[in-house]
Amino acid sequence: MSEDEKPRDDSPAVSRRAFALGAAGVAGLCAVGGVGVALAGDGNLLRPPGGQDEAAFIARCLKCDKCRSICPENCLTVCVLENGLVNYRTPRIDFRKGYCTFCNECIEVCPTQALVPFDPSTEKIGVAVVDVNECIAYQGSGCHICVDACEYEAIELNDSGKPVVHAELCNGCGKCELVCPSATYRAYTGSHARGINVEVWKEA
Ligand code: SF4
Ligand code: SF4
Repeated sequence: MSEDEKPRDDSPAVSRRAFALGAAGVAGLCAVGGVGVALAGDGNLLRPPGGQDEAAFIARCLKCDKCRSICPENCLTVCVLENGLVNYRTPRIDFRKGYCTFCNECIEVCPTQALVPFDPSTEKIGVAVVDVNECIAYQGSGCHICVDACEYEAIELNDSGKPVVHAELCNGCGKCELVCPSATYRAYTGSHARGINVEVWKEA
């Protein structure tokens, strides 16, 4: 069974073992990145739509798990201690199981307006970024599955037949990351990486 196929424990209950592992992770973060990283994480968490103002989101999120529970696409999970103590049990996006259809159900169920109304035609969860070291099209396969999957025409093939992302058109829905077959095709390398991944959008 591959890492991607393994069932994930997304339930709110936290086992002692999971907590101990998380605590060990925080200790590791303290050693590697300092106390600041251990407390706040690395700042690269993808939040559900409407939660992109990180400071406002953290101030309001009750960690009630309602958004993750209601998501019909199964694209939300919760942060563990390695994501930073402040973020622990807050929701984050995980496009390995589903992509966001902007159905708004998570926004509507949020009791504190930590998630606010979101317009996917003008706002972004994040932006897709091609990893040329993992994308099998860049290894000469001719794959264009992400190009075909994108509902926003945010990816096209360049003159060499390789996918490139137009950041201004991408809203970070994650469909390209979900369908990317790179990990399957390159499983023999031991890699679970996708050839395209949605990352936090940092405007220049
Ligand atoms: S908008 Fe809908 S599909 Fe997207 S994360 Fe929220 S509940 Fe899931
Ligand atoms: S995340 Fe991927 S599929 Fe979604 S709009 Fe951006 S490029 Fe298209």
